[in-house]
Amino acid sequence: MKKNKVNTLSFRLWLYFIAFAIGIFAILWLMQVVFLQAYYSTMKKNEVIKLTNKVEEIFLEGNYEELIDDLAYKNISNIFIFDTYGNTIYDSNTTLNVESFSGNVPNRTIDIDENAAIRMLENSPSREIKYTIRLDKFKSKIFVYGKVIPYTNICIVMVSSIDPIDATISILAVQLVYITVIALIISSIISIFLSKRLSKPISNMNEMAKRLALGDYSVKFEKCGYNEIDNLVDTLNDTTKKLKDTDETRRELMANVSHDLKTPLTMIKAYSEMIRDLSGENKEKREEHLKTIIDETDRLTNLVNDMMDLSKIETGLVELNKEEFNISDVIKNIVKKFEASEEGKHKRHKFILLLEESQMVFADKSKIEQVIYNLISNAIKYSEYGKTITVKLNSYASKVKIQIIDEGAGIKEEDINNIWNRYYRSNKNFSRNLEGSGLGLCIVKNILNAHKENFGVTSQEGKGSNFWFEITRKG
Ligand code: ADP
Repeated sequence: MKKNKVNTLSFRLWLYFIAFAIGIFAILWLMQVVFLQAYYSTMKKNEVIKLTNKVEEIFLEGNYEELIDDLAYKNISNIFIFDTYGNTIYDSNTTLNVESFSGNVPNRTIDIDENAAIRMLENSPSREIKYTIRLDKFKSKIFVYGKVIPYTNICIVMVSSIDPIDATISILAVQLVYITVIALIISSIISIFLSKRLSKPISNMNEMAKRLALGDYSVKFEKCGYNEIDNLVDTLNDTTKKLKDTDETRRELMANVSHDLKTPLTMIKAYSEMIRDLSGENKEKREEHLKTIIDETDRLTNLVNDMMDLSKIETGLVELNKEEFNISDVIKNIVKKFEASEEGKHKRHKFILLLEESQMVFADKSKIEQVIYNLISNAIKYSEYGKTITVKLNSYASKVKIQIIDEGAGIKEEDINNIWNRYYRSNKNFSRNLEGSGLGLCIVKNILNAHKENFGVTSQEGKGSNFWFEITRKG
């Protein structure tokens, strides 16, 4: 089989990881490099306006110089306060006391044309000025905000660089390149590691499944800690077990069938030879031998019929043809046939019928007949001549309950759960057990299960058994 590398779990996982990393970094790049600039200057402008209002507050409170110096320094801005006649009241450039600061002083000295500012402020209806100057020489931008303190002739102008922090951005860009490369390497490693961890158990399972395909039922699929895969492992282990059981049953079935077929065939051959060689002339002996041959042939026919019924039922080939019928009459007819088959015989069973009359049920008539037939024939098979076999029918709200009660051999407690299985025979030593195929109760079980009806048995060894089942009533 040619393997397509692109379709492997590891490659796909790696691809998704890389795509994810690239996606994240594309967004980061966009945010940092493209939008940061615009975002920064807007923020800075708002900050300058807010600071100017603060300067106004401080100024109006008096004793402002140091506080405003501090503000100007910390925000790398220049602040000018002057009156509308052009007299400077405060100028952060000049009042800045270098020695009082431990850090660097603002490195740009910016002056403004106060008269021009005053003119602009006077012309502005809102008594406010706001503009950006581009200093091509330094490739930088400066934001100027000015206002007249209401009800006074004092103007405050604040000048601040809103440089697009080029340096920061380029550092970020370089860093991003490094981070991107590192992230790609890390995601590759993680994806390889992950895919190994994920694909290894799957490959192992594949190996096991191959062994299973070759008929090795000892394989055990190992769990690996991922729920989805573990569920699959459970299912596969379960399937293995079922396959093993099926295989065992198949072997057992073959062994049983061949054994069951062989015994009557041997008998038939032996008796045929006896007729040919010994009893041919002796009518009485011949009749006796022929009877054995006919009995054995019947046994073979029954066995083959049972096997065919069972295989049909088990493979689900037979669908239930449900109809309405009178179960009381059906039971009577079957019992009549059994009575007839023993009629005239010296040894026979006693039948007692305790039936509610004309009970209508809804089920597959011929299959239910088979159930009753199998149960009564077992009752006959496993009880001595002269014993009583009682068939009861009681009706309840939605069901009828049918019981076949014998006074026969009964069933050992340890066998009671197994008798419904194929080819299970508990009374191995029972004198007339030779007749059984070991399939009768299995057929009963399958038919009743297909009808979804309850059934069961109570039995006491040596005292007898009570086999019962229910059928859904009609009307
Ligand atoms: P078989 O053809 O051997 O009778 P069945 O499937 O009909 O096969 O029954 C399975 C086993 O259950 C029987 O071999 C027998 O040991 C036991 N069994 C069934 N019916 C009765 C019964 N009425 N009394 C005692 N044992 C029974």
